[in-house]
Amino acid sequence: MSHLMLDEIRIDVVRKKMKNIRLTIYPSTGKIRLSVPKRTSEKMIQSFLKSKLDWIKKHSQSVVNQNNKVLNFETGENHSFLGKNYPLEIIEIQGREKVKFEDNIIYLFVNEGSTIELRQKLLVKWYRKQLEAILPEMIAYWESVMHVKVEEWRIKSMKTKWGTCNITKKRIWLNLELIKKTKEQLEYVVVHEMVHLFEKYHNKRFYDLMTLYLPNWKEIRKQLNQIV
Ligand SMILES: [Zn+2]
Repeated sequence: MSHLMLDEIRIDVVRKKMKNIRLTIYPSTGKIRLSVPKRTSEKMIQSFLKSKLDWIKKHSQSVVNQNNKVLNFETGENHSFLGKNYPLEIIEIQGREKVKFEDNIIYLFVNEGSTIELRQKLLVKWYRKQLEAILPEMIAYWESVMHVKVEEWRIKSMKTKWGTCNITKKRIWLNLELIKKTKEQLEYVVVHEMVHLFEKYHNKRFYDLMTLYLPNWKEIRKQLNQIV
């Protein structure tokens, strides 16, 4: 395996017996790998990568810290917030623990001897607060566009779903993880769940409504589910 640098991004290049060029970003590590057929020329590789540069930049950024397992809540570590990664800075204080987002840094003010679990809890609480601050306006906007009322919404930690909708109770639940995604992606999930207030099933009517409200919803969904 060799590697090359493209705009300061390291890309591993593997030559093997295959038909097409394949570009992969590994969510857990953020590593980028390009697999190419054995006889592909350097020139071909360069031009291929150049054509994909925007995509690589976008996705290599949103990837590194999506895997919760590798996070230790230490200074210097990157954490996601609204679709971007920000460095974490741990500051020991006495008194009330808190989180502050300033100058593109997430500050965690913690007491001496705080554990990974406590830091995580503190950050999760903050994430929830941020999502709680965004949702009322977003939901109200779509209520007025769609002429429908959401009776109740909640934020939940869910393993497999971005959101759920209880049609009879007109209640939607949204995954707390969405605070790590872009506002556009969060909005897509909100609209998706709200369209369920009109249509229970993922049928043609459902998708027609999605297209009516968010013409580019397919693209957004693709981005949302690409890297989890
Ligand atoms: Zn659905």
